[in-house]
Amino acid sequence: PAPLPSDLEIARQADLKPISEVAARMGLGPGIVEPYGHHVGKIPLEAIESLATRPKGKYVVVSAITPTPLGEGKTTTSVGLAQGFHHIGRTATVALRQPSMGPTFGIKGGAAGGGWSQVVPMERINLHMTGDIHAVSAAHNLLAAMVDNHLYQGNAANLDPYQVAWRRVVDINDRGLRQIITGIGGKANGLPRETGFDITAASEVMAVLALADSLDDLRRRLGRVVVGWTPGGEPVTAEDIGCAGAMAVMLKEAMKPNLMQTLENTPVLVHAGPFGNIAHGNSSIVADRIGIHGGDFLVTEAGFGADMGAERFFNIKCRTSGMTPDAAVLVATVRGLKVHSGRHRVVAGKPLPESMLTENPEDVAIGAANLRKQIENMRMHGVPVVVAINAFPTDYASEHAVIAEVAESMGARVETCTHVKDGGAGAADLARAVEEAANEGSQFAPLYPADMPLSDKIECLATKVYGADGIDCSAQARRQLAAFTDNGYGHLPVCIAKTHLSLSSDPALHGAPTGWRMPVREARLSAGAGFVYALAGDMRTMPGLGSHPAAESIDLNEMGEIEGLF
Ligand code: ADP
Ligand code: MG
Repeated sequence: PAPLPSDLEIARQADLKPISEVAARMGLGPGIVEPYGHHVGKIPLEAIESLATRPKGKYVVVSAITPTPLGEGKTTTSVGLAQGFHHIGRTATVALRQPSMGPTFGIKGGAAGGGWSQVVPMERINLHMTGDIHAVSAAHNLLAAMVDNHLYQGNAANLDPYQVAWRRVVDINDRGLRQIITGIGGKANGLPRETGFDITAASEVMAVLALADSLDDLRRRLGRVVVGWTPGGEPVTAEDIGCAGAMAVMLKEAMKPNLMQTLENTPVLVHAGPFGNIAHGNSSIVADRIGIHGGDFLVTEAGFGADMGAERFFNIKCRTSGMTPDAAVLVATVRGLKVHSGRHRVVAGKPLPESMLTENPEDVAIGAANLRKQIENMRMHGVPVVVAINAFPTDYASEHAVIAEVAESMGARVETCTHVKDGGAGAADLARAVEEAANEGSQFAPLYPADMPLSDKIECLATKVYGADGIDCSAQARRQLAAFTDNGYGHLPVCIAKTHLSLSSDPALHGAPTGWRMPVREARLSAGAGFVYALAGDMRTMPGLGSHPAAESIDLNEMGEIEGLF
């Protein structure tokens, strides 16, 4: 088959509608959307109220098997599915995270879908969009500056300089900033301290933006952010430092979800971009509260595999918002399941190895252990599951048949989709199956009660979702969890910070590993966002650049157009 044009080439041919017309498709009357140029708009939070009289659509979460470093197509499938609903006469809205510019200029390229299932204008979504990520960086770094100034100006809050937890952030992959010393150069420059930078997506402020359900709630959550501890073990908050109000002011515009469109003019809400491993990896609650009234369906993507993004969607995002999912889509790929057989290895940015391109239903069948476990993971939250086989040009029908058989043997619906090649028409069957599943009636319930002790919550996720035999908490982690509980944070949900490349805590283990225990090295608190996270592996919160970063091939041409974004 002829190769598809590049994502950027396809995106450039798009027939974009003015943003007011896109807004009208989700019931937003004239004058509500604040245009940022012709094709991007911001939706003020008053829209939550002005849409409240409209009926509620069905709420659909899109997740995946445990991904390879290449990604299995959750974003393309979310976009394709929403487009697909139009092909069966339904209306739909998509809600996505805003991509970070770190990976855009690093290894991954754009993150706005692919082929004929994309969010456009792709240059806008992948670059600064409306500046929300910059606002998050600025608010985060203001607090960092205020913390250092607080130490310098007499430290009234008695913050232990050795126990400052608040670092700095920037939206660029820059490994040299992981560990730094600030305040050098004499007394006038402040107290020298060892600290570092994370990528902005890893900022707790980003998670706060995603989980706050109003400006008041944003302000309160920012106040609760714990920046460090006193020598006696008491938390010191952004409120104590006197910075929370200013942060809320900086984030006022960023709280408004951004409206864009798919290649087929379906409304897309793009809002917030929290990290998928140390944070919950889902787009914002306010965008979903708006989008749920936007039509028959709201389709939202949860980052990484069903054990990560979807688990946090259920146990953190839905618990916080009170919204109830009606159906879950699990994206599966032949290439992903071949890797889960343990017989193949893929590297991001490199072509697939020859061994993966031959017809090989056996390896897909072995790797399908992962698919089974991820179906189970979604189902244990009481939500009907539809498996979406995201078809690649290199797949064989016999390989799709294996995936379909496994899904059906688990009682899940399953459809093959070709939305990357064919746009929404390629996901029409998937849309029909999702509608059926959503009409079945979901029995959604979070996996654990809020009042369960923190270590039991961690153990519950480790054993039920990840398939571990149990957890091994370090002495440090046990002390931290006890301290969080003593300070009144025991009711929070937990987020397991682990590799996204395996169900286990070892990225090299594929399929559905059994007979292992999950190490919990350390626990950390995101009191503002509203969760505790447990480190079950080495977590990179500041990526580095590779030997040939995407930035090397991104440029402006003679017409002033962007080249090399993909
Ligand atoms: P995820 O959201 O799960 O990380 P994406 O939807 O971003 O995955 O897809 C990952 C990459 O794979 C993107 O570059 C996308 O264009 C490409 N891709 C996804 N599905 C297909 C497909 N069916 N055919 C070809 N390329 C695809
Ligand atoms: Mg994605």
